[in-house]
Amino acid sequence: MGRLTGKTALVTGGALGIGRAACLRLAQEGARVAVTDLHDTEGHAVVETITKAGGSAGYWHLDVSHEADVRAVFEDVLQAFGHLDVLVNNAGITGPNKPTHEVTEAEWDHLMAVNVKGVFFCTKHALPYMMAAGHGSIINLSSIYGLVGAPDVPPYHASKGAVREMSKTDAMIYAKQGIRVNSVHPGFISTPMVENFAKSQGDAAKVRAGLDALHPLGHIGEADDIAWGIVYLASDESKFVTGAELVIDGGYTAR
Ligand code: NAP
Repeated sequence: MGRLTGKTALVTGGALGIGRAACLRLAQEGARVAVTDLHDTEGHAVVETITKAGGSAGYWHLDVSHEADVRAVFEDVLQAFGHLDVLVNNAGITGPNKPTHEVTEAEWDHLMAVNVKGVFFCTKHALPYMMAAGHGSIINLSSIYGLVGAPDVPPYHASKGAVREMSKTDAMIYAKQGIRVNSVHPGFISTPMVENFAKSQGDAAKVRAGLDALHPLGHIGEADDIAWGIVYLASDESKFVTGAELVIDGGYTAR
């Protein structure tokens, strides 16, 4: 409790899955949280859960792939909260699960607009506030798929590799201004993204067992496993950590 007292955090894709868990844990540790997403009902529900528990939060509708919307929402959040200390670039999509030669230009562009351009837009519009304050922590959700290959979702792999490298470059550029930038690399985590994928493959239980077996610890992770890593990177406990890759994957990439 209290690891983030006095800080404000904006989380993209905060209504569901890892983003939702991050919002709840950040708030539990004392941060004031701007929950943003496309899913308004679920986003408001996250805010209600936080406020009922005694925390502080607000909800904003935000599609991270539209720069004008990102600029406007960040301005609004700053007006409401007064400062922005932590940005969690969490919103992401899986995109088409096809081999590269079957992926269309439109599918590629859509995936990149959310997973890469969205991170760029939100980082770009958070930085002036953080530079003015002389501190900040930007936490970018990459993936094990940004570290190692697998024979599926090629545009997703490309996007998560880009997010990993964007994090390191921004870490270098803004270090002198007290702004830390790190990437988080989850293994498979039980969220709507993965549950929908399992259902789309037919026998969801069999798919889930197959995913569990990919992780040396014997099972896929929970959203909270990632949320606690995000809390650490948001807090001053990680004040000497920048340009780092926080891998939380049950051992997936250890082999
Ligand atoms: P999720 O369950 O699908 O939740 C992501 C949230 O972001 C959803 O509410 C989603 O809405 C929203 N979103 C999608 N496009 C958006 C946009 N353009 N603007 C704003 N919000 C948008 O996903 P998750 O599993 O929690 O994943 C969160 C992050 O972790 C992603 O970046 C993902 O790539 C990464 N990650 C996840 C896993 C995993 O196994 N779950 C593993 C490694 C990395 P929709 O439901 O409409 O898409």
